[in-house]
Amino acid sequence: MNDGHLPGLEPRVGGLDPATARFLGICASCRAPVLWATNVTSGRRNPIDPRPTEGGNVKLTVGPAALVYEVPPAGERHKLAGTLHISHFVTCPNATSHRKKR
Ligand SMILES: [Zn+2]
Repeated sequence: MNDGHLPGLEPRVGGLDPATARFLGICASCRAPVLWATNVTSGRRNPIDPRPTEGGNVKLTVGPAALVYEVPPAGERHKLAGTLHISHFVTCPNATSHRKKR
């Protein structure tokens, strides 16, 4: 699967710095632009909404080869207010298709 840089997505998102925009991809489910980031703890790659959001809990860090993310403890999130993102699994209109049926 080619989830590398997709030209043409930046205008749909806007305001991303070029280092971050390199990691733009698209949600296979709803076709929204997402940032593919690797969890610093688990090493798993997950789609993250490209824009910071109020109530976000995902801290993105652009590394030389990868975009990584971590979820800061709740008590530290206020210091990062305005910069935190949220998992696309939370906002995807087709989120149920990402999870196993109950
Ligand atoms: Zn989606």
